[in-house]
Formats: sequence, C-alpha cells, structure tokens
Amino acid sequence: MMREVITEAEAALLHTYNRYPIVFDRGEGVRLYDIEGKRYLDFASGIGVFALGYHYGDFDDALKAQIDKLLHTSNYYYNVPAVEAAKKIKRISGMDRVFFTNSGAEAVEGAIKAARKYAYLKDGRTDHEIIAMQHSFHGRTMGALSVTGTPKYREAFAPMIGHIRFAKLNDMESVMAQISDKTCAILLETIQGEGGIHPAQEPFLRELRRLCDERDILLILDEIQCGMGRTGYYYAWQRFGIRPDIMTTAKALGGGVPVGAFLMTEAVGAHSLEAGDHGTTYGGNPFAAAAVSRMIDLLEENQILEHVREMGAYLEEKLDALTARCDFVRERRGCGLMQGLQCRDTVGAVIGRALEAGLILINAGPSVIRLLPPLIIEREHVDEMIGILEACLKEDVR
Ligand SMILES: *Cc1c(COP(=O)(O)O)cnc(C)c1O
Repeated sequence: MMREVITEAEAALLHTYNRYPIVFDRGEGVRLYDIEGKRYLDFASGIGVFALGYHYGDFDDALKAQIDKLLHTSNYYYNVPAVEAAKKIKRISGMDRVFFTNSGAEAVEGAIKAARKYAYLKDGRTDHEIIAMQHSFHGRTMGALSVTGTPKYREAFAPMIGHIRFAKLNDMESVMAQISDKTCAILLETIQGEGGIHPAQEPFLRELRRLCDERDILLILDEIQCGMGRTGYYYAWQRFGIRPDIMTTAKALGGGVPVGAFLMTEAVGAHSLEAGDHGTTYGGNPFAAAAVSRMIDLLEENQILEHVREMGAYLEEKLDALTARCDFVRERRGCGLMQGLQCRDTVGAVIGRALEAGLILINAGPSVIRLLPPLIIEREHVDEMIGILEACLKEDVR
C-alpha cells in the first residue's frame, strides 16, 4: 500500500526531498500511524510544529468553528481572530507590534525588510549590511537563503541579496570583525536548529545586546524552531533577560496550521515599515489566526511551560546517561525539549532503524540526531524513546 503511494508521489512531485519511505495517515496524542496501521512514537512533531501533539484538547474544535464562519478576508479589512491572536502573541513575547505571515521564511523576509527600512530612515543610505551566523538556517526564499550560513544551500542560487556578512556563533571577536558603520542588524537563531542544535550562550547574547544598543543596530532573533514553549520559555531569549528588537516565530505557532509572524518593539515599529511597504494576501487570515489564538490559550491554560521544564530536565538526564553509555554519541546539546545528540559519524542509518522500530527521529546535519517531541510528552515516552534509540545505536557500533 505504501509502495504504491510512494511510486505515485515520486512520479508527480518535484524531487526536492529524499523522503523516508513512510506514508502517514493520522495522529493521536504523541503517536502517528502510517496508512498500513503501524504505530510510531513521534519525537519530531513535524519539525517542531505539533507542539501539543495531535488532536489536543479543543484545538480542532476551534479550527472547525472558524471554518464554519470565515476562512479569509484579505488584509484590506480587519478581522477579530487576527486581533485576538496579535494581542496574545504580544502578551507572551513582550514585543509590541506583530505582522502575520504564512511561513517561517516569510517572517525572516519581513524582518530583513523592517531592519533595512529602519536604517534607511535614519541615514538615507542603501548599502546597509546584516551580520548573520555561520551554520544558521533561516529558510529557502532568496532573502532568507541569503542570511543562511550553510554555503551548500546558497551556492547554486547566487547571486544572493547583497551586503550579508557571516560571523561565528558565540564568538564576539568574529562579530566585531564584521561590524562596520553600515551594519544595520545582527540576526541569529537563539538556538540553531538545522545547523545542529547549537544554543547561543548567555554572555554572547548579552554582549550582542549591549553592542546593538551602543550602535543602534537591530538585534533580530529567529525563534521559528526554538520558540513557542519548546525550551520551557515562550521564547528562548526570555531566559536571558534580554529582548530583541525584531523577532521571528512560526513552526509551532499555529499548532499544525501554516502561519508565522515577525514582531518588533514599538521603537522599531514606529520607524520602519509603513503603509504600502509590506504585505501578504493570506497573512493573518481568520483561520490561521484562530489557530494561533487557541494554541496560545492552550499553552497557558495547561501550564505547558512548567511541564516542558520538568520533562526537559528528565529528557536531558536520560540523554546524558545514554551519551555516557554509548560510544557513538559524543555529546548532548540543547535546552528543554529541543535536544541534539552529536554523534561520531553520520546518523542516517540509526534514524532509519528507529523508524523501523516505530520511533520518529530526525537529524540536524549529517551527524546530529535531533529530538523535537511534542511538548506534552510524559516520562514514559522519554523512557520508551531511550530504549528504542539505544538499541538502534548499539546495532550501529557493531
Ligand atoms: C524552519 C525554519 C525556518 C523556515 O521556516 P519555513 O516555515 O520552512 O519557511 C526559518 N528559521 C528557522 C530557525 C527554522 O527552523
């Protein structure tokens, strides 16, 4: 059954992915089922999208109710769900102004435009530079790709948008080496996801914040993967007592419904994008906004952050013990329920075997096993995952 679907898919879809040979059918809680009925424990949650797992609480009902009312209006008019969603996302983020997008990459595009416009309004120049980080990932559109620090993603699509410089994460000297009077923004993921689960460290973020304040450079934090509760904070930067000038969010924001946003402080909002500068047909439509709104309610009502802190600590403990037992695993990195196991070799075979054994894992680069479970996992799920993963790792060493 799966074979047929896969053959048809490969005949019809553009081959831009090497997919695992699984056709998923439905989800329930932290489990997915393929179309042949096999059950999987999900430790990837659709790349960190299904933060509350599948069919959580009354989330689906909120979506269904909105479908029955209105899906789309365009941004020529106001709609209530978008206002509600904007107020809630402001509340959990402490940012002041919201622009809704349809994806993460689009949020990054908006953030770049806002930063350039802010700098342009200050000095009228059009040669401003942005400093991004090596090994970063910000999306596949041309602007987002231009600030993505993995050369292999960019190479064939040159020329990129200009005036981007790359520095080393957690290395202030390398940032200073790229700074000039043209620098308008410094952009980074608070925790690098695709690049291999590399957290920005507190002293580095604090130094960046100080530097940006001193020179009126905008600090842009990409929270698309690490945000929405994944680290035990709504946004990962909140544990460091700093605030970015611009922030991007997506993935878990709509709990499975495609939606993103970029947010900014009032200071940036009042001096950057103006009417006519930016737009989107679908962004902030009532359906996506209803999803965001209910997602945030459910995170709050069910004290998900507290749960993530508890489960994150448990997961870390178990992963650290596994790392100590397993020669193939070199180190654990990450925070809360965003974890990576740096291995000594490529992890494709381990992930393939885990899938066969009914455990969904993904990688982050060739040699890192990435864990992004739904935020609602319990200890028993962590134990189950560790058991399967350890068996799969042992086969690899042999
Ligand atoms: C996934 C991701 C993006 C891109 O989001 P899309 O919705 O795929 O466009 C950007 N930044 C980070 C940190 C991401 O993890």
